Amino acid sequence: MAETNTAAASAAGNWTPEQPIVSLKEVRKSFGDLEVLKGITFDVMKGEVICIIGPSGSGKSTLIRCINALNPIDSGSIQVEGQEVHDAHLDKLALRKKVGMVFQQYNLFPHKTALQNVMMAPVQVLKQDKAEVEARARKLIKKVRLEGKEESYPGELSGGQQQRVAIARSLAMNPDIMLFDEVTAALDPETVKEVLVTIKELAQDGMTCMLVTHEMGFAREVADHIYFTDRGVIVEHGPPATFFSEAKDPRTQEFLGQIL
Ligand code: ADP
Ligand code: MG
Repeated sequence: MAETNTAAASAAGNWTPEQPIVSLKEVRKSFGDLEVLKGITFDVMKGEVICIIGPSGSGKSTLIRCINALNPIDSGSIQVEGQEVHDAHLDKLALRKKVGMVFQQYNLFPHKTALQNVMMAPVQVLKQDKAEVEARARKLIKKVRLEGKEESYPGELSGGQQQRVAIARSLAMNPDIMLFDEVTAALDPETVKEVLVTIKELAQDGMTCMLVTHEMGFAREVADHIYFTDRGVIVEHGPPATFFSEAKDPRTQEFLGQIL
């Protein structure tokens, strides 16, 4: 046991930003008899934006959830900053500080203001100094372009505004990587854009972002690399410049035909 700890610690200690910040190797995952991830392998470099696209049920959410250990994997390996995510000895809180996640359902606390929602985890989970957290939270609320809404309750905000509070809440933990799982899918069309702008600005600031999205315009403009998944495998991938024009597999073509 001590040996495993030492091995994990030294692997993490050896990680340098020139190495992949997220590395998946032959990741497999089943729910009962249903194999949802059938050997997923890819690397993400620091500062990259990658988009995962694919039909409903193809395993995109499962994949994203495995990266911050919300789902266990059956075999293969996922490393974040050189550290094995599915090592039983991994400090899950440390991982979740490093890897922020935003979901389709933003799930803000309805009886807390925007500011209180953003402050909550650093104050209550990380026990950080309240005044410092508040100063940071106010800056983050500005960053997601919600200045003036600090004292608003979620019910007083549009879906897009609430989702931006949820993004600020995630950023309050100072993550190195952000995971976004269809964060605009439940929003009114007119508020989708403001959330995408926020994510784009984050990406331009150098945040490593992994997004599951159906927003092809965004993927084309912002992604460094696009992965198309279907039934638990990566069918095709590439930078947007070639991905959209040179998709060869009929499954990719069919999907893009439906969505574009
Ligand atoms: P996507 O996000 O691409 O729509 P998911 O990763 O949510 O796909 O789901 C992939 C498959 O795994 C689906 O068939 C789904 O029903 C199944 N699945 C997801 N989560 C669970 C779970 N906790 N238990 C059982 N089956 C699940
Ligand atoms: Mg999903």
